[in-house]
Amino acid sequence: METPKRRAELEKYYDPNSTFGHLRVAQMKRSWKLKNRRELTWWESTYIPTLFSGVWLTSAHFFRNLGLHILHQVGLKKDVRAAATYQYPEEKRPLALRARTRHRLTKREDGTPRCVACMMCETVCPARCIEITAAEHPDPNIEKFPAEFILDLGKCVYCGFCVEVCPEDAIRMDTQRLDIAEYSRESMIYNKERLMNG
Ligand code: SF4
Ligand code: SF4
Repeated sequence: METPKRRAELEKYYDPNSTFGHLRVAQMKRSWKLKNRRELTWWESTYIPTLFSGVWLTSAHFFRNLGLHILHQVGLKKDVRAAATYQYPEEKRPLALRARTRHRLTKREDGTPRCVACMMCETVCPARCIEITAAEHPDPNIEKFPAEFILDLGKCVYCGFCVEVCPEDAIRMDTQRLDIAEYSRESMIYNKERLMNG
């Protein structure tokens, strides 16, 4: 059985500031708790104390939030958040910077797409939802450009392969937009202009 001393030694070994260290420490604490779990007493095994503690906790949150919402309505305590939930759609939940969100085509300084119509993204796409029509670029330094770039978000599985494979950093999934619901399948099909400016 692990003693508190042994546990302290292990915690010291797992530096919580290292990469994923906090996860390792949490995992270790959990396994320590599981190993050292004691038997429930007769009173605890009725679950009545747990039931009351649950009701108390829920009620405490309810009355706290109710009180704060009433104060907010009269213009007080606006700086104190009323509930742990986000009031969507007025208030959007912040996303991680690396979250894969709706696509966009990046532009050059002159406003034209960076895409050189190499077809890598179209080839790698497992959902086959990209369709590019290539055309000759007037600039001899750039071989091709996409005359049309169609992306069907109704089929996309958000795997991010298109972004990974692009040699020109021409397509990104960093718009932080996930609200892409539409009323028809056709509206889910994005063309070049929509991907560049939408
Ligand atoms: S995210 Fe994946 S499925 Fe969606 S367009 Fe890119 S490669 Fe295709
Ligand atoms: S991989 Fe990049 S450059 Fe190539 S066609 Fe796709 S978006 Fe354009």
